[in-house]
Amino acid sequence: MIVDRIRTVETGEGWCRSARVSSGSGERTVEYHVPHVDGARDSGPRVGDAAAFLAATILPAMLDGEDLHIDGPVSARTLAGSAEVVTAFARWDHRLRPPLVTTAGTADPGVASAGAACFFSRGADSMASAVVERVGSAALTHLVHVVGLEPVHSAATIDEEVRLARRVGDLVGLPVVVMRTNVRMLTDGRRDWADAHGAALASLALATDGVFGRVVVPSTQAVDELVPYGSGPTLEPRLSSESLQVVHDDLSLDRVGKVWLLARDRPDLLPLLKVCWAEDRADNCGRCGKCLLTMCALQAADALHLATGFPDRIPLDDLRRLRPAPVQSQQHWVAAARALGADGERGRTRDAILDALHRSARPGPRERVLQWWAYLRGRRASPVPNWKDPSRGFEWTHHTLMLDLLTRGRPSRPVAPEPEEPLVLGRARPAVGGRTDSGAATHGRNPSVQGP
Ligand SMILES: [Zn+2]
Repeated sequence: MIVDRIRTVETGEGWCRSARVSSGSGERTVEYHVPHVDGARDSGPRVGDAAAFLAATILPAMLDGEDLHIDGPVSARTLAGSAEVVTAFARWDHRLRPPLVTTAGTADPGVASAGAACFFSRGADSMASAVVERVGSAALTHLVHVVGLEPVHSAATIDEEVRLARRVGDLVGLPVVVMRTNVRMLTDGRRDWADAHGAALASLALATDGVFGRVVVPSTQAVDELVPYGSGPTLEPRLSSESLQVVHDDLSLDRVGKVWLLARDRPDLLPLLKVCWAEDRADNCGRCGKCLLTMCALQAADALHLATGFPDRIPLDDLRRLRPAPVQSQQHWVAAARALGADGERGRTRDAILDALHRSARPGPRERVLQWWAYLRGRRASPVPNWKDPSRGFEWTHHTLMLDLLTRGRPSRPVAPEPEEPLVLGRARPAVGGRTDSGAATHGRNPSVQGP
């Protein structure tokens, strides 16, 4: 995969940073539109660093099974950190080959701008990140709402989303910057967005280098829920450059805790809470798993009636029919069930959640027959009820690996008779007195290839 024609053009509204991405799977132009930002540096994004395009193309190059060349200077820090991201992806999915990554040089380290932004979609994670108290220099100066990351939004819904994001910005006292991108096209149709979105957000953050010095990515997983996932404390921060720090936000709150925090401290924001991505609308469908989980958390906080972007009742039959998976998602539901308690309407919601969780692992006879039928027809690789298709992404691969080890005593991928070379990117420093190499413009499995 080759990334070239790296450009930054002033557009009147701001700047368009773009690059051509060519590989065996086709040729595309990836774009980031960074608007003029009041209160930040007038000069716009720093253009001498192509780190954003490296962050955006790591996973696509691995999906194509190709090495990756960035035809522009890249931050030494981002390049070094990207080796850890490559390693994570390759360990989480053994079908992904670590690419040899080369660049056309090392970018001059810039000076970090003072601005500190946080990505903001109006979901529970980003709403909590927008309002949580931060001390001193960690305080936010802006929220960044990105157009182009939602898969099904029409132009009218996008306009409404921007309007509502700005309304939250007014309520929390932070100006909302609207970026636009088409970065999703590099992975859409080939990989679940859950696997791709952390590196994509890091690339968006790096595209604002010079405008902001620090960009926060709201966390999805709490500290006790960390499993292989496309966004996390081991991913986005590794892609930081010398002048743009990408921060993966606090891990102390799970999804239910974030809703609780909002209900307790900022109930005025609950009417603007938007978690649904399943439909083309600026409010919530109230039927998909993400909507239902948020509604259960709101009910646990006695605040469902305040969140007017959701239906006012939880459809318990829909809840019972859910089969939460993989394990991280199951943990979110356990947290919701714990917060609800056994009494009254909340107790009925809790029972429906516990029933759905139980059925996910121990389905009834009819579901079992259907699973066996799918297995015998070759449409399902395992008859085990809690098995999930590992090809859906990192979380599902992890879920199935754990399931196989715990229930069958075997890894999902058989141990081959031939010895397998461990994944080792980079190399050790030579013995004292030997040749030293300060070059940082390459990493990959093959240490014999060096330099730009
Ligand atoms: Zn929904």
